[in-house]
Amino acid sequence: MPSHRRHMTLGENRRMTLGVIADDFTGATDVASMLVRAGMRTVQVIGVPDDATVIDADAVVVALKTRNLPAADAVRESLAALRWLQAGGMRQCYFKYCSTFDSTAAGNIGPVAEALMQALGADFTIACPAFPENGRTVFRGHLFVGDELLSDSGMRHHPLTPMTDANLVRVLQAQCQGRVGLLRHDMVAQGPLVLRQRFDAMRREGISIAIADAVNNADLRLLAEACADLPLLTAGSGLALGLPEVYSARGWLLPDAQAATLDLARGAAAVLAGSCSLATQAQVQRWREAGRPALAIDPRALARGEPVAEQALQWAQGHSAGQAPLFYATSTAEALHSVQAELGAAQAGALVEACMAQLACGLLAQGVRRLVVAGGETSGAVVQALGVTQLRIGPPICPGVPWTQVEGQSVGETLQLALKSGNFGGPDFFSEALQLGVSI
Ligand code: ADP
Repeated sequence: MPSHRRHMTLGENRRMTLGVIADDFTGATDVASMLVRAGMRTVQVIGVPDDATVIDADAVVVALKTRNLPAADAVRESLAALRWLQAGGMRQCYFKYCSTFDSTAAGNIGPVAEALMQALGADFTIACPAFPENGRTVFRGHLFVGDELLSDSGMRHHPLTPMTDANLVRVLQAQCQGRVGLLRHDMVAQGPLVLRQRFDAMRREGISIAIADAVNNADLRLLAEACADLPLLTAGSGLALGLPEVYSARGWLLPDAQAATLDLARGAAAVLAGSCSLATQAQVQRWREAGRPALAIDPRALARGEPVAEQALQWAQGHSAGQAPLFYATSTAEALHSVQAELGAAQAGALVEACMAQLACGLLAQGVRRLVVAGGETSGAVVQALGVTQLRIGPPICPGVPWTQVEGQSVGETLQLALKSGNFGGPDFFSEALQLGVSI
Protein backbone atom coordinates (compact mmCIF):
# COMPACT_ATOMS: atom_id res chain seq x y z
CA MET A 1 0.00 0.00 0.00
CA PRO A 2 1.51 3.35 -0.93
CA SER A 3 2.05 6.00 1.69
CA HIS A 4 -0.99 8.23 1.93
CA ARG A 5 1.06 11.15 3.15
CA ARG A 6 2.14 14.06 1.06
CA HIS A 7 5.42 15.93 1.28
CA MET A 8 5.06 19.67 1.73
CA THR A 9 7.29 22.54 2.53
CA LEU A 10 7.25 24.01 6.00
CA GLY A 11 5.41 27.16 5.05
CA GLU A 12 2.58 25.17 3.43
CA ASN A 13 1.99 22.92 6.39
CA ARG A 14 -0.90 24.51 8.24
CA ARG A 15 -2.14 21.33 9.86
CA MET A 16 0.57 20.51 12.37
CA THR A 17 -1.23 20.82 15.68
CA LEU A 18 1.32 19.33 18.00
CA GLY A 19 5.10 19.51 17.92
CA VAL A 20 6.88 17.04 20.18
CA ILE A 21 10.52 17.14 21.27
CA ALA A 22 11.56 13.72 22.62
CA ASP A 23 14.77 13.18 24.57
CA ASP A 24 15.37 9.69 23.20
CA PHE A 25 14.34 7.57 20.24
CA THR A 26 12.14 4.96 21.88
CA GLY A 27 10.46 7.74 23.82
CA ALA A 28 9.68 9.42 20.53
CA THR A 29 8.01 6.34 19.05
CA ASP A 30 6.21 5.80 22.34
CA VAL A 31 4.53 9.21 22.29
CA ALA A 32 3.92 8.98 18.54
CA SER A 33 2.16 5.65 19.07
CA MET A 34 -0.11 7.26 21.64
CA LEU A 35 -1.11 10.00 19.18
CA VAL A 36 -1.64 7.62 16.25
CA ARG A 37 -3.88 5.42 18.34
CA ALA A 38 -6.27 8.33 18.79
CA GLY A 39 -6.30 9.11 15.06
CA MET A 40 -3.59 11.77 14.83
CA ARG A 41 -1.48 11.25 11.73
CA THR A 42 2.00 11.32 13.18
CA VAL A 43 5.48 11.37 11.74
CA GLN A 44 8.71 11.05 13.64
CA VAL A 45 11.84 12.77 12.36
CA ILE A 46 15.24 11.67 13.56
CA GLY A 47 17.11 14.70 14.81
CA VAL A 48 16.34 18.21 13.64
CA PRO A 49 15.99 18.18 9.84
CA ASP A 50 18.42 20.57 8.19
CA ASP A 51 15.98 21.66 5.50
CA ALA A 52 12.47 23.06 5.54
CA THR A 53 10.80 19.93 4.21
CA VAL A 54 8.23 18.39 6.47
CA ILE A 55 5.51 15.79 6.05
CA ASP A 56 1.88 16.74 6.11
CA ALA A 57 0.84 15.38 9.51
CA ASP A 58 -1.21 16.35 12.54
CA ALA A 59 1.73 15.80 14.86
CA VAL A 60 5.46 15.78 14.25
CA VAL A 61 7.78 14.21 16.80
CA VAL A 62 11.43 15.25 16.72
CA ALA A 63 13.46 12.37 18.14
CA LEU A 64 16.61 13.61 19.84
CA LYS A 65 19.20 11.69 21.84
CA THR A 66 19.69 14.32 24.53
CA ARG A 67 18.90 12.48 27.74
CA ASN A 68 22.51 11.79 28.64
CA LEU A 69 24.23 14.78 27.05
CA PRO A 70 25.75 17.61 29.08
CA ALA A 71 22.82 19.91 29.95
CA ALA A 72 24.01 22.80 27.75
CA ASP A 73 24.13 20.53 24.68
CA ALA A 74 20.70 19.07 25.44
CA VAL A 75 19.30 22.62 25.74
CA ARG A 76 20.89 23.72 22.46
CA GLU A 77 19.53 20.75 20.51
CA SER A 78 16.08 21.04 22.08
CA LEU A 79 15.89 24.74 21.18
CA ALA A 80 16.88 23.92 17.60
CA ALA A 81 14.03 21.38 17.47
CA LEU A 82 11.66 23.98 18.88
CA ARG A 83 12.59 26.55 16.24
CA TRP A 84 12.06 23.98 13.48
CA LEU A 85 8.64 23.01 14.86
CA GLN A 86 7.66 26.66 15.30
CA ALA A 87 8.51 27.28 11.66
CA GLY A 88 6.08 24.43 10.87
CA GLY A 89 3.27 26.29 12.61
CA MET A 90 2.68 24.02 15.61
CA ARG A 91 -0.01 25.12 18.03
CA GLN A 92 1.32 23.39 21.14
CA CYS A 93 4.73 22.02 22.14
CA TYR A 94 5.31 18.82 24.13
CA PHE A 95 8.65 17.95 25.72
CA LYS A 96 8.64 14.16 26.08
CA TYR A 97 10.88 12.35 28.56
CA CYS A 98 10.80 8.90 30.08
CA SER A 99 7.93 7.74 32.29
CA THR A 100 10.56 6.77 34.85
CA PHE A 101 11.86 10.37 34.75
CA ASP A 102 15.32 9.19 33.65
CA SER A 103 17.76 12.00 34.35
CA THR A 104 20.94 12.75 36.19
CA ALA A 105 21.38 15.24 39.04
CA ALA A 106 22.55 17.76 36.43
CA GLY A 107 19.43 17.35 34.29
CA ASN A 108 18.36 17.22 31.60
CA ILE A 109 14.63 17.45 32.22
CA GLY A 110 14.79 20.68 34.27
CA PRO A 111 17.24 22.66 32.09
CA VAL A 112 15.50 21.70 28.84
CA ALA A 113 12.00 22.43 30.20
CA GLU A 114 13.09 25.84 31.48
CA ALA A 115 14.84 26.75 28.23
CA LEU A 116 11.78 25.76 26.19
CA MET A 117 9.51 27.75 28.51
CA GLN A 118 11.65 30.82 28.11
CA ALA A 119 11.74 30.48 24.33
CA LEU A 120 7.98 30.03 24.17
CA GLY A 121 7.24 32.83 26.66
CA ALA A 122 5.55 30.31 28.97
CA ASP A 123 5.34 31.20 32.66
CA PHE A 124 3.92 27.86 33.80
CA THR A 125 3.88 24.21 32.79
CA ILE A 126 3.36 20.79 34.27
CA ALA A 127 5.71 17.82 34.54
CA CYS A 128 3.70 14.63 34.17
CA PRO A 129 5.69 11.40 33.63
CA ALA A 130 2.73 9.14 34.56
CA PHE A 131 1.92 6.29 32.15
CA PRO A 132 -0.60 4.16 34.10
CA GLU A 133 -1.06 1.60 31.28
CA ASN A 134 2.59 0.71 31.79
CA GLY A 135 2.41 0.82 35.56
CA ARG A 136 3.95 4.28 36.00
CA THR A 137 1.79 6.35 38.34
CA VAL A 138 2.48 9.52 40.30
CA PHE A 139 0.85 10.20 43.68
CA ARG A 140 1.72 13.06 46.01
CA GLY A 141 4.63 13.72 43.71
CA HIS A 142 6.08 10.23 44.14
CA LEU A 143 6.64 8.02 41.12
CA PHE A 144 5.67 4.38 41.31
CA VAL A 145 6.77 1.62 38.92
CA GLY A 146 4.09 -1.02 39.38
CA ASP A 147 3.72 -1.42 43.14
CA GLU A 148 7.19 -0.10 43.94
CA LEU A 149 8.53 3.37 44.45
CA LEU A 150 10.82 4.38 41.59
CA SER A 151 13.78 4.24 43.97
CA ASP A 152 12.99 0.61 44.89
CA SER A 153 12.48 -0.48 41.28
CA GLY A 154 15.05 -1.81 38.82
CA MET A 155 15.64 1.82 37.79
CA ARG A 156 17.97 2.22 40.76
CA HIS A 157 20.46 0.11 38.78
CA HIS A 158 20.07 1.82 35.42
CA PRO A 159 23.45 1.87 33.61
CA LEU A 160 23.30 5.61 32.75
CA THR A 161 20.56 7.25 34.83
CA PRO A 162 20.14 5.37 38.11
CA MET A 163 17.03 6.76 39.84
CA THR A 164 17.41 6.64 43.60
CA ASP A 165 14.78 9.19 44.70
CA ALA A 166 11.05 8.73 43.96
CA ASN A 167 10.11 12.25 45.13
CA LEU A 168 9.91 14.02 41.78
CA VAL A 169 9.40 17.49 43.24
CA ARG A 170 12.79 17.08 44.89
CA VAL A 171 14.39 15.47 41.83
CA LEU A 172 13.17 18.18 39.45
CA GLN A 173 13.84 21.05 41.86
CA ALA A 174 17.50 19.98 41.99
CA GLN A 175 17.64 20.47 38.18
CA CYS A 176 15.71 23.78 37.96
CA GLN A 177 16.39 27.47 38.47
CA GLY A 178 12.69 28.25 39.06
CA ARG A 179 10.41 26.88 41.76
CA VAL A 180 8.89 23.41 41.40
CA GLY A 181 5.51 22.62 43.00
CA LEU A 182 3.03 19.77 43.28
CA LEU A 183 -0.36 19.41 41.61
CA ARG A 184 -1.94 17.00 44.03
CA HIS A 185 -4.28 14.23 42.96
CA ASP A 186 -7.29 15.69 44.78
CA MET A 187 -6.90 18.81 42.59
CA VAL A 188 -6.47 16.79 39.38
CA ALA A 189 -9.60 14.76 40.13
CA GLN A 190 -11.69 17.96 40.32
CA GLY A 191 -11.13 18.62 36.63
CA PRO A 192 -10.05 21.37 34.26
CA LEU A 193 -11.74 24.38 35.83
CA VAL A 194 -10.29 23.79 39.27
CA LEU A 195 -6.96 22.84 37.73
CA ARG A 196 -6.71 26.09 35.77
CA GLN A 197 -7.47 28.04 38.95
CA ARG A 198 -4.73 26.09 40.67
CA PHE A 199 -2.32 26.90 37.81
CA ASP A 200 -3.02 30.60 38.42
CA ALA A 201 -2.55 30.22 42.17
CA MET A 202 0.77 28.47 41.58
CA ARG A 203 1.90 31.23 39.22
CA ARG A 204 1.16 33.73 42.01
CA GLU A 205 3.18 31.59 44.44
CA GLY A 206 6.12 31.80 42.05
CA ILE A 207 5.92 28.17 40.93
CA SER A 208 6.78 27.68 37.29
CA ILE A 209 6.68 23.88 36.95
CA ALA A 210 4.32 21.55 38.81
CA ILE A 211 4.75 17.81 39.13
CA ALA A 212 1.27 16.50 38.29
CA ASP A 213 -0.18 13.51 40.11
CA ALA A 214 -1.94 11.00 37.84
CA VAL A 215 -2.88 7.41 38.66
CA ASN A 216 -5.12 6.50 35.74
CA ASN A 217 -6.04 7.54 32.21
CA ALA A 218 -9.00 9.60 33.46
CA ASP A 219 -6.55 11.80 35.39
CA LEU A 220 -4.44 12.23 32.26
CA ARG A 221 -7.48 13.26 30.20
CA LEU A 222 -8.45 15.87 32.80
CA LEU A 223 -4.91 17.22 32.82
CA ALA A 224 -4.75 17.32 29.01
CA GLU A 225 -7.93 19.36 28.88
CA ALA A 226 -6.78 21.70 31.64
CA CYS A 227 -3.47 22.28 29.82
CA ALA A 228 -4.91 22.99 26.36
CA ASP A 229 -3.85 26.64 26.47
CA LEU A 230 -0.36 26.12 27.87
CA PRO A 231 2.27 26.72 25.16
CA LEU A 232 4.41 23.89 26.58
CA LEU A 233 3.60 20.52 28.11
CA THR A 234 6.32 18.37 29.63
CA ALA A 235 5.46 14.73 30.19
CA GLY A 236 6.00 11.06 29.52
CA SER A 237 3.88 9.66 26.73
CA GLY A 238 0.77 9.12 28.88
CA LEU A 239 -0.50 12.70 28.77
CA ALA A 240 -0.60 12.53 24.96
CA LEU A 241 -3.53 10.09 25.03
CA GLY A 242 -5.85 12.91 26.07
CA LEU A 243 -4.68 15.49 23.54
CA PRO A 244 -6.38 14.36 20.28
CA GLU A 245 -9.80 14.63 21.93
CA VAL A 246 -9.01 18.12 23.19
CA TYR A 247 -7.78 19.20 19.75
CA SER A 248 -10.83 17.68 18.02
CA ALA A 249 -13.16 19.56 20.35
CA ARG A 250 -11.37 22.77 19.40
CA GLY A 251 -11.65 22.04 15.69
CA TRP A 252 -7.86 21.72 15.34
CA LEU A 253 -7.97 18.06 14.33
CA LEU A 254 -10.00 15.67 12.19
CA PRO A 255 -9.17 12.16 13.53
CA ASP A 256 -8.03 9.67 10.85
CA ALA A 257 -9.01 5.99 11.34
CA GLN A 258 -6.15 4.94 9.00
CA ALA A 259 -3.50 6.78 11.00
CA ALA A 260 -1.67 3.56 12.02
CA THR A 261 -1.56 1.81 8.61
CA LEU A 262 1.84 0.55 7.40
CA ASP A 263 2.89 -1.29 4.26
CA LEU A 264 2.88 -5.10 4.27
CA ALA A 265 6.02 -6.34 6.05
CA ARG A 266 8.41 -8.55 4.06
CA GLY A 267 11.90 -9.94 4.55
CA ALA A 268 13.95 -11.51 7.31
CA ALA A 269 13.84 -10.32 10.92
CA ALA A 270 16.35 -9.93 13.77
CA VAL A 271 16.39 -8.68 17.36
CA LEU A 272 19.06 -6.46 18.99
CA ALA A 273 18.93 -6.07 22.78
CA GLY A 274 21.24 -3.44 24.27
CA SER A 275 19.16 -2.80 27.38
CA CYS A 276 19.83 -4.21 30.85
CA SER A 277 16.40 -3.26 32.16
CA LEU A 278 14.47 -5.95 34.01
CA ALA A 279 11.79 -6.32 31.31
CA THR A 280 14.47 -6.85 28.63
CA GLN A 281 16.28 -9.34 30.87
CA ALA A 282 13.04 -11.36 31.07
CA GLN A 283 12.50 -11.10 27.30
CA VAL A 284 16.01 -12.33 26.51
CA GLN A 285 15.62 -15.17 28.99
CA ARG A 286 12.26 -16.23 27.51
CA TRP A 287 13.72 -16.21 23.99
CA ARG A 288 16.70 -18.32 25.05
CA GLU A 289 14.57 -20.76 27.06
CA ALA A 290 12.43 -21.28 23.96
CA GLY A 291 15.59 -22.48 22.17
CA ARG A 292 15.58 -19.64 19.67
CA PRO A 293 18.93 -18.51 18.20
CA ALA A 294 20.64 -16.06 20.53
CA LEU A 295 24.17 -14.69 20.74
CA ALA A 296 25.64 -12.76 23.69
CA ILE A 297 27.70 -9.66 22.98
CA ASP A 298 30.56 -9.37 25.50
CA PRO A 299 31.65 -5.79 26.34
CA ARG A 300 35.04 -7.06 27.57
CA ALA A 301 35.71 -8.65 24.17
CA LEU A 302 34.74 -5.34 22.55
CA ALA A 303 37.16 -3.51 24.86
CA ARG A 304 39.93 -5.92 23.83
CA GLY A 305 39.27 -4.92 20.24
CA GLU A 306 38.09 -8.35 19.13
CA PRO A 307 35.98 -8.45 15.91
CA VAL A 308 32.80 -9.21 17.87
CA ALA A 309 30.32 -7.77 15.36
CA GLU A 310 31.98 -9.44 12.36
CA GLN A 311 31.91 -12.83 14.10
CA ALA A 312 28.29 -12.29 15.17
CA LEU A 313 27.26 -11.47 11.61
CA GLN A 314 28.96 -14.62 10.35
CA TRP A 315 27.05 -16.60 12.98
CA ALA A 316 23.79 -14.97 11.82
CA GLN A 317 24.38 -16.13 8.27
CA GLY A 318 24.45 -19.73 9.51
CA HIS A 319 20.77 -19.52 10.47
CA SER A 320 17.90 -20.40 8.23
CA ALA A 321 15.72 -17.57 6.95
CA GLY A 322 12.77 -18.56 9.11
CA GLN A 323 14.72 -18.20 12.37
CA ALA A 324 15.21 -14.63 13.55
CA PRO A 325 18.44 -14.28 15.57
CA LEU A 326 18.76 -12.32 18.81
CA PHE A 327 21.97 -10.45 19.68
CA TYR A 328 22.06 -9.31 23.29
CA ALA A 329 24.38 -7.38 25.60
CA THR A 330 21.66 -7.59 28.24
CA SER A 331 23.02 -8.70 31.59
CA THR A 332 22.03 -8.76 35.26
CA ALA A 333 22.74 -5.75 37.48
CA GLU A 334 25.57 -7.64 39.15
CA ALA A 335 27.34 -8.54 35.91
CA LEU A 336 26.74 -5.03 34.58
CA HIS A 337 28.33 -3.39 37.62
CA SER A 338 31.36 -5.63 37.34
CA VAL A 339 31.86 -4.68 33.65
CA GLN A 340 31.28 -1.01 34.41
CA ALA A 341 33.80 -1.07 37.28
CA GLU A 342 36.37 -2.51 34.88
CA LEU A 343 35.67 -0.47 31.74
CA GLY A 344 33.81 2.61 33.02
CA ALA A 345 30.04 2.94 32.54
CA ALA A 346 30.19 5.44 29.66
CA GLN A 347 32.91 3.53 27.83
CA ALA A 348 31.15 0.17 28.23
CA GLY A 349 27.87 1.70 27.06
CA ALA A 350 29.50 3.34 24.05
CA LEU A 351 31.23 0.10 23.03
CA VAL A 352 28.00 -1.87 23.22
CA GLU A 353 26.04 0.82 21.36
CA ALA A 354 28.65 0.94 18.59
CA CYS A 355 28.54 -2.83 18.26
CA MET A 356 24.73 -2.87 18.07
CA ALA A 357 24.87 -0.15 15.41
CA GLN A 358 27.39 -2.17 13.40
CA LEU A 359 25.23 -5.28 13.72
CA ALA A 360 22.18 -3.38 12.46
CA CYS A 361 24.05 -2.22 9.35
CA GLY A 362 25.44 -5.72 8.74
CA LEU A 363 22.03 -7.36 9.17
CA LEU A 364 20.49 -4.91 6.71
CA ALA A 365 23.20 -5.85 4.22
CA GLN A 366 22.28 -9.52 4.79
CA GLY A 367 18.68 -8.76 3.83
CA VAL A 368 17.01 -8.19 7.18
CA ARG A 369 14.01 -5.88 6.73
CA ARG A 370 12.34 -6.10 10.15
CA LEU A 371 14.43 -5.18 13.16
CA VAL A 372 13.38 -5.18 16.82
CA VAL A 373 15.68 -3.08 19.04
CA ALA A 374 15.52 -3.08 22.85
CA GLY A 375 16.91 -0.06 24.67
CA GLY A 376 16.44 3.68 24.23
CA GLU A 377 20.07 4.66 23.78
CA THR A 378 20.64 1.48 21.79
CA SER A 379 17.78 2.37 19.44
CA GLY A 380 19.24 5.84 19.01
CA ALA A 381 22.60 4.39 18.04
CA VAL A 382 21.00 1.95 15.58
CA VAL A 383 18.78 4.53 13.93
CA GLN A 384 21.66 6.96 13.56
CA ALA A 385 23.92 4.29 12.06
CA LEU A 386 21.25 3.28 9.55
CA GLY A 387 20.93 6.91 8.50
CA VAL A 388 17.18 6.89 9.16
CA THR A 389 15.63 10.35 8.96
CA GLN A 390 11.89 9.72 9.15
CA LEU A 391 9.61 7.06 10.59
CA ARG A 392 5.94 6.50 9.91
CA ILE A 393 4.21 5.22 13.01
CA GLY A 394 2.20 2.00 12.78
CA PRO A 395 0.23 -0.32 15.05
CA PRO A 396 1.25 -0.95 18.67
CA ILE A 397 2.95 -4.19 19.73
CA CYS A 398 2.40 -3.32 23.39
CA PRO A 399 1.56 0.00 25.11
CA GLY A 400 4.29 2.44 24.13
CA VAL A 401 5.92 0.40 21.36
CA PRO A 402 4.62 0.55 17.78
CA TRP A 403 6.02 -0.92 14.61
CA THR A 404 7.42 1.88 12.49
CA GLN A 405 8.40 2.15 8.86
CA VAL A 406 11.43 3.99 7.55
CA GLU A 407 10.49 6.81 5.20
CA GLY A 408 12.06 9.74 3.47
CA GLN A 409 15.20 8.01 2.19
CA SER A 410 16.28 5.38 -0.28
CA VAL A 411 16.92 2.29 1.83
CA GLY A 412 15.68 0.19 -1.07
CA GLU A 413 12.95 -2.16 0.08
CA THR A 414 10.65 -1.42 2.99
CA LEU A 415 12.44 -1.41 6.35
CA GLN A 416 10.42 -1.69 9.52
CA LEU A 417 11.71 -1.05 13.03
CA ALA A 418 10.29 -1.74 16.48
CA LEU A 419 12.17 0.47 18.94
CA LYS A 420 11.50 -0.63 22.50
CA SER A 421 12.30 1.28 25.64
CA GLY A 422 14.17 -1.23 27.82
CA ASN A 423 11.53 -1.62 30.48
CA PHE A 424 8.53 -2.00 28.17
CA GLY A 425 6.75 -5.14 27.07
CA GLY A 426 5.95 -8.53 28.58
CA PRO A 427 8.33 -11.53 28.51
CA ASP A 428 7.15 -12.60 25.02
CA PHE A 429 7.60 -9.16 23.49
CA PHE A 430 10.16 -10.20 20.88
CA SER A 431 8.06 -13.01 19.39
CA GLU A 432 4.88 -10.91 19.67
CA ALA A 433 6.59 -8.15 17.72
CA LEU A 434 7.76 -10.52 14.99
CA GLN A 435 4.32 -12.13 14.65
CA LEU A 436 2.61 -8.76 14.36
CA GLY A 437 5.22 -7.65 11.86
CA VAL A 438 4.19 -10.45 9.52
CA SER A 439 0.48 -9.79 9.67
CA ILE A 440 0.42 -6.01 9.38
P1 ADP B 1 17.12 1.23 28.45
O1 ADP B 1 16.04 1.58 27.47
O2 ADP B 1 16.88 -0.03 29.21
O3 ADP B 1 17.46 2.41 29.33
P2 ADP B 1 19.43 1.90 26.88
O4 ADP B 1 19.80 1.30 25.56
O5 ADP B 1 18.84 3.28 26.86
O6 ADP B 1 18.44 0.88 27.59
O7 ADP B 1 20.67 1.98 27.85
C1 ADP B 1 21.42 0.87 28.15
C2 ADP B 1 22.89 1.26 28.09
O8 ADP B 1 23.63 0.21 28.70
C3 ADP B 1 23.41 1.43 26.69
O9 ADP B 1 24.33 2.49 26.65
C4 ADP B 1 24.10 0.10 26.43
O10 ADP B 1 25.12 0.19 25.46
C5 ADP B 1 24.64 -0.21 27.79
N1 ADP B 1 24.85 -1.65 28.01
C6 ADP B 1 24.08 -2.67 27.58
N2 ADP B 1 24.57 -3.84 27.95
C7 ADP B 1 25.70 -3.59 28.62
C8 ADP B 1 26.65 -4.40 29.29
N3 ADP B 1 26.54 -5.74 29.29
N4 ADP B 1 27.66 -3.79 29.90
C9 ADP B 1 27.78 -2.45 29.90
N5 ADP B 1 26.92 -1.62 29.31
C10 ADP B 1 25.87 -2.18 28.68
